[in-house]
This record gives sequence, structure tokens and C-alpha cells, in this order.
Amino acid sequence: MPDQRTFTGGCHCGLVRYECTSDLAMVTACNCSICTKKGLHITFVEPQRFRLCAGEDSLKEYKFNRHVIAHQMCSECGVETFARGQKPDGTRVIAVNVATIDGIDLSTIKMTPFDGKNM
Ligand SMILES: [Zn+2]
Repeated sequence: MPDQRTFTGGCHCGLVRYECTSDLAMVTACNCSICTKKGLHITFVEPQRFRLCAGEDSLKEYKFNRHVIAHQMCSECGVETFARGQKPDGTRVIAVNVATIDGIDLSTIKMTPFDGKNM
């Protein structure tokens, strides 16, 4: 089992800041329309493992398709740090954009292909 670690992260301009706890064992390389266009690499965490530290008032929400995922972008710099979503059974989940974790080196992260396009 990879270690659970608490990471800090945020948007580009610094208005939006968060902490999340994850082992980063599963990071998506997803083929859906928004992950492709934004270059999103997502790890899913339970809501209690994610804390928005700053920027609640700076978030701009974006939904599309079935509107089950609420993408959260910084209204100033446009970076999406996370999304609020639901699993098919209704459980709430936070989708953290791994690229926004402080000091992350994406070239060292193992990516898991995810067929979001056909879900
Ligand atoms: Zn920002």
C-alpha cells in the first residue's frame, strides 16, 4: 500500500488553496472531453480528505453533460484545482487536479488510463 500523504496545492495566482490526503495510487489519464482539453490528471478523494483553505469566494463553477461533476475554477487565473462529484451510488467525491499540488512533478506520477469518454 502506498503511503497516504497530506498535500497542499492551489491555483496559479494563489487565491484558491487546499489540502488533501491521498496515496496518489490512482491518477487518471482520462480520455473524456474536458480532461483532454484541460490536460486534467485527477485523483479521487473522499470529501473528508479534502479541505478548501482559501478561495471559496473565488471559485467559478462549470458543469456540462449530465451535470454530476461541478468543476471549480479560479475566477482570477482560470486554473481548475478540483471538482465536486458523485459516484453512481450517490457517494460524494472530490476530484483533485493532481497538476495543482505544490511541487508536483507529473513525469514521476504513474497514470492510469480511464475511459471517461464512454461513461
Ligand atoms: Zn487563481
